[in-house]
Amino acid sequence: MSPSKVSSLDFDKFYNIIDGEQRGSKNIHHGVNPSTGEDLWEVPIATEQDCNDAVAAAKKAFPAWRDTPIAKRKELLMKFAELFGQHTAEFTQLLCKESGKPQKIAGIEVGGVVGFIQYHCALDIPEEKFEDDEKIVYTEYTPLGVCGGIIPWNFPLILSIGKIAPALLTGNTIVVKPSPFTPYTGLKLVELAQQIFPPGVVQAVGGNNELGAQLTLHPDVAKISFTGSIATGKKVMEASAKTLKRVTLELGGNDASIILPDVDIKKVAPEVVMGAFQNSGQVCVATKRIYIHESIYQEFLQEMVNFTKSIKVGPPEDGDNLLGPVQNAMQYEKVKGFFADSKAKGYKFAVGEPEPQPTKGFFIQPTIIDNPPNDSRIVAEEPFGPIVPTQPWSDLDEVIARANDTNTGLGGCVWGKDVEKAMAVARRIEAGSVFVNSWEKPTPQAVFGGHKESGIGGEWGKTGLLAFMNARVIHCYKN
Ligand code: NAD
Repeated sequence: MSPSKVSSLDFDKFYNIIDGEQRGSKNIHHGVNPSTGEDLWEVPIATEQDCNDAVAAAKKAFPAWRDTPIAKRKELLMKFAELFGQHTAEFTQLLCKESGKPQKIAGIEVGGVVGFIQYHCALDIPEEKFEDDEKIVYTEYTPLGVCGGIIPWNFPLILSIGKIAPALLTGNTIVVKPSPFTPYTGLKLVELAQQIFPPGVVQAVGGNNELGAQLTLHPDVAKISFTGSIATGKKVMEASAKTLKRVTLELGGNDASIILPDVDIKKVAPEVVMGAFQNSGQVCVATKRIYIHESIYQEFLQEMVNFTKSIKVGPPEDGDNLLGPVQNAMQYEKVKGFFADSKAKGYKFAVGEPEPQPTKGFFIQPTIIDNPPNDSRIVAEEPFGPIVPTQPWSDLDEVIARANDTNTGLGGCVWGKDVEKAMAVARRIEAGSVFVNSWEKPTPQAVFGGHKESGIGGEWGKTGLLAFMNARVIHCYKN
C-alpha cells in the first residue's frame, strides 16, 4: 500500500484530485475574496468524466482499503493529522482569503481539523455479541463502499474533514465535492492527503451544483454525506432514492435561545450575542431567534445592544476583528432581503442600520430586531447572516411551543442559573443538539444531526460512525 504521487504542495495552484493525481480542466472558475470582492485563483471545474473517473478509482481502491486493518487506517489518519499540522499557517491564510474569516477564527477551524482526526482515531467500531444455549449472534459493522461528501461554503475545512475522517476510519473511500464558493481549502486538504493515502482512497472534484447532482445519481456511490440547505437536501434525497443510496443530510436550522428570568444578565447577554453572530450568523446552528423573559427583557436587550456595538467587523488581516464579511454575493443579497423586509414592515432596529452600507466586500454590521411578530420573515426563516430577532415571553409552556413551532430542529440553547430547570427545558426542545448555558458549539465527541427538516441521520462521534456502515449480523448456531 503506497501513497499517491502528489508530493509537494503549492498554495497558489488548485487541482481536482483523481486517482492520486492532480487534474486540471479546460473549464475553470474563480472564488471571490469576500473582503475585497476580487477574484481569487483559478480553479478547475470537474467534468462528468472527471466525476466518473473519481468514482471508478474510489471503487477500485475500496477492497484493499476496507481490508486494511483498522489500526493501520488509524495510523495513516494520525500521520495525516501530523502532516496537516505542519501546514496550519498556509491553510489559515487560504481559509481567510476564501471565507473572509478573521485570522483567529480561521485558526480555530484549521486547528479543529487535527483535533477532529485525533478524536476519531480514539474510537472503535461498535460490535455486539449475544449468546444463549443454542447460538451466538454477532452484530458487526462493515463499510458501505464509495461515499460522496458534499460540502457547503460556511466551514469548508472542518466540514470536509468531518466526512473524510469517519469515512476512512470505517474503511470507506470518499470523493469530496467542495462548494463552488469555497473550493480552495477543501481541494488542498485532499491534495495533501495524497502524501499519505493510496490513490483513490480520498479524492476531490471541484465544481458547480450539477457536479453534486451527478455524484448523487452515480450508481457506484453507496452513500452521500451532504451538508447544505434544506432545499438542496431534498433534491439529494430524491436523486439518491433512485439507487437507494444511504444519505446523511445535515441541513439548515432556525435555532431558538430561551433566556430564563434568573440569568446573570451582564454575563449571559454577550454570550447570547455570540451565539447569534458567530461567523457573521453563517452557522447552521447559530442562534436565530432569541426569547427573553419579560421581567428582564429590556435590560437584557440593552446589554446585547451594548456588546453588539463593541464587535469589530472587518477583513481578516486586522487581528482585532471578531466578525468578517458574508461569504458570497448571493448570500449577501439574501441577507439584505431580511433587512429590507424588516425595514418595510416597520420593525424596530435595536442595533444596526436598516440598510447595510455598501462596502468593498460583503460586510454587514450585526443587527438586532426588537420584537417583530411571530410570522415575520426574520422569525420564521433562516437568514444565515448577522441579523437576529428578540421577543419577550412570560409563560414557559408557551415559549417552548414557540421555540418548537418550526419545520426545523437543528439546535437550540437554554440559559438559566438553575441548571436543573434549564436542563428540563432543554429536554423539551425538538432539536438534535441543545446547549445549556452555552451558545451552540458542536463537538466531534457527539453525533451531530437535525430533527424534522433539519436533516436525516447524523455524523461525528461514536454513534456517527454507524452512518458510514452497514450492519451484518452473523447468527452462529452451536453444533
Ligand atoms: P447549498 O445547499 O446551496 O449547497 C451545498 C452543497 O451542495 C454545495 O457544494 C453545492 O454545490 C451542492 N449542491 C447544490 N445543488 C446540488 C444538487 N442538486 N445535488 C447535489 N449537490 C448540490 O448550501 P450552502 O448555501 O452552500 O450552505 C448553507 C446552508 O447549509 C444553510 O442552510 C446552512 O444552515 C446549511 N448548513 C448545515 C449544516 C449542518 O451540519 N446541519 C452545516 C453547515 C451549513
